Amino acid sequence: MKFIIHFTFHMVLSVSLLWGQNLRNNPNSNHGNKFEQLGIILPDANQSRTASGAPGRDYWQMRADYQIDARLDEENLHLYGSEWIQYHNQSPDVLPYLWLQLDENEHHPNSGNNYSALDTKLGKQITAGNLRDLDRRKKLEGFGVNIEAITDADGKALPYVIHETMMRIDLPKPLLPGQRIKFYIQWNYKIPDRLDIGGRGGFEYFEEDGNHLFTITQWFPRLCVYSDFQGWQHKQFTGRGEFALPFGNYEVRMTVPADHIVAATGVCQNYKKVMGASQFKRWEQAQNSTEPVEIVTLEEAKLSEQSKSKQTKTWVYKAENVRDFAWGSSRKFIWDAMPTMINGKKIMCMSYYAKEAYGLYRKFSTKTVAHTLKTYSGFSIPYPYPVAISVEASNGMEYPMICFNFGRTAKDGTYSEGTKNGMLGVVIHEVGHNFFPMIVNSDERQWTWMDEGLNTFIQTMTQELFDYNFPAGRGAAANIVDYMKLEKDQLEPIMTNSENLIHFGQNAYAKTATGLNILRESILGRERFDMAFREYARRWAFKHPTPSDFFRTMEDASGEDLDWFWRGWFFDIEPVDIAIDSVDVKLALISAPPRPVQYYWQQPNANETISKHRNRVANAPFLVEQDTSLRDFYYHYKSPKATPKVPFNYVLADQAFQSGGDSSYLYEVHFSNKGGMVMPIFIRWNYADSTFEDEKLSVQIWRKNEDKCVKTFLKNKKVSSIELDPFLETADIDTGNHLWKAEKDPEKVEVLNSPEKRRGRRRGTEANSSNPMQQSQRGN
Ligand SMILES: [Zn+2]
Repeated sequence: MKFIIHFTFHMVLSVSLLWGQNLRNNPNSNHGNKFEQLGIILPDANQSRTASGAPGRDYWQMRADYQIDARLDEENLHLYGSEWIQYHNQSPDVLPYLWLQLDENEHHPNSGNNYSALDTKLGKQITAGNLRDLDRRKKLEGFGVNIEAITDADGKALPYVIHETMMRIDLPKPLLPGQRIKFYIQWNYKIPDRLDIGGRGGFEYFEEDGNHLFTITQWFPRLCVYSDFQGWQHKQFTGRGEFALPFGNYEVRMTVPADHIVAATGVCQNYKKVMGASQFKRWEQAQNSTEPVEIVTLEEAKLSEQSKSKQTKTWVYKAENVRDFAWGSSRKFIWDAMPTMINGKKIMCMSYYAKEAYGLYRKFSTKTVAHTLKTYSGFSIPYPYPVAISVEASNGMEYPMICFNFGRTAKDGTYSEGTKNGMLGVVIHEVGHNFFPMIVNSDERQWTWMDEGLNTFIQTMTQELFDYNFPAGRGAAANIVDYMKLEKDQLEPIMTNSENLIHFGQNAYAKTATGLNILRESILGRERFDMAFREYARRWAFKHPTPSDFFRTMEDASGEDLDWFWRGWFFDIEPVDIAIDSVDVKLALISAPPRPVQYYWQQPNANETISKHRNRVANAPFLVEQDTSLRDFYYHYKSPKATPKVPFNYVLADQAFQSGGDSSYLYEVHFSNKGGMVMPIFIRWNYADSTFEDEKLSVQIWRKNEDKCVKTFLKNKKVSSIELDPFLETADIDTGNHLWKAEKDPEKVEVLNSPEKRRGRRRGTEANSSNPMQQSQRGN
């Protein structure tokens, strides 16, 4: 809410038109709005955030350090915790109170978000389970956070107010700039069955062996972000818009049944104490291994499942400069580890999974973690943390250094190709979240696209570098077309708050990823895009960026005015639909000068996306080609329906200068913009001699008329057809208007041989002006 108020403050001209399809700087202009600067739509630059998109000289952010003790009561499915928080006021502001998040109150029976979700229409039948779910209050009885105590450093109670998932603590005296405060909170809550009532953390019960797998996440009272751009971020947690958190250092002690294995954010301080001797030896072996080493083996995990210890053990972890802390705990965990080197620094890549996932996780998980860290480090900043963990928990959720993923095999250990690709995709995605938003710490509760979209974009590139044959995912332009074709009431701009999105995944994840892919492959080119994107990550690592910081940095570093793109793709909903309306062909008989012709690489596979194409011709280092251990049944398998694998050779068409013939063909092409979103025009010229040429017209072609444009091309060969967007790289929603075929002979055009008429007239010369001074000197 605050954000909107902040924006309207800047919107002096058109207060009622916040954003969306009506967003116009020049409402009375008949054109040019799509190329206007964003200007007043973005907040003003200031001392905290510069106009170039970088943190300003007075940039500040808050910091919260935590010391937490947690006890997991498996028998009663209850979690008990206490924490010391040290909060540093690094702002220039005076704070009379602090806001904290109690995410587990999402499940409180009286929580408002339980009643704001929309229900579907009742049919003729209803299951008993669905009937029970309708009595939400009864179903959630007993859930929610119980606060036992909140005190200052001297043990004196601090007054507080709980408002659903938010809690305000009133300070005895205001916290001044530069001051810090230490306070204590004690709490407990009933752990939910994640698969029954939903939520980010909880337990999963395995009926066959009677054991639990706990994912303990968003579990302790956590400070909200207080920032220069919106003050306190205390928008309610509804289970959707994830979170906004300040950085800090953590020391966490987790007391669990003695036969449990704990996986957590950070570095374990007491492995020797909590592990068996042989397991500790394997942990030491894993430090220098080139393959994942099983620290807890499949056999050990199966044995653990058969009994339940009455003893407990306390696992101690420390994590520095993180925005959150999460953990998993189970006696079902198999655990493997392998180091990877990034920028000369060793990072332990690890996986924890139950026997149900062994067939996939043992082979792929830890190596995929390593591959993800390397690829993302190349596209953003080198991974700065010492550990990265993938836990199989039949979901997909990310926290610093640890994430929870899915992918289980059939009982016999086999799996479908879809399950395998889903598992690789979710591991890459959730590990990738370490960079966005765990390190580049955007506000997820407000802008889902800033973490999900950016992350999904690099996820797709990482998948494509895992295996050329990995199916093109979110980010490939052609895959967003069905969404962009939806009716207007089903669409909303990417710049929409998380809670309000109708098509959450398509909008925040896919449309954002696709937009960045189009920027990279089709507008800026890989070199300029990659440099600018890295600069954004470098500037905002361990800081809190906003959308304008991203938009401004991408322009600042790439040297391209992209306001038209942000305006069309992020603030608007119009699709791309560029059509060839008509072509007028004329034959001119002159001697054309030689000119360079750039022929592109052949496209051997009609389904090859532009990014797969460029990876292939560049001989990108696909992981499966380098590490043969990752080749499984599906590497060799050819589905009867699948398109054949593309061979790794390619043909380079004639790149030499081609001299002009005696005849030149003139093609006057009439284009129209039916969709609304302006885009460069990608044209393929198919010549009568079976060669082809690709050509790109800058988006600026639309700047004076956003609906129609005409361009005349001179070709020295006869064209048999003209095709738009041959690589399907612009998310154009209608390819039916992309083709023109030459049907009749061209009309001849006369070329005047008389003195060539110069285009640029020399100004200020004497050639044609009347000159009385000269005339008088000649004696006239
Ligand atoms: Zn995500």
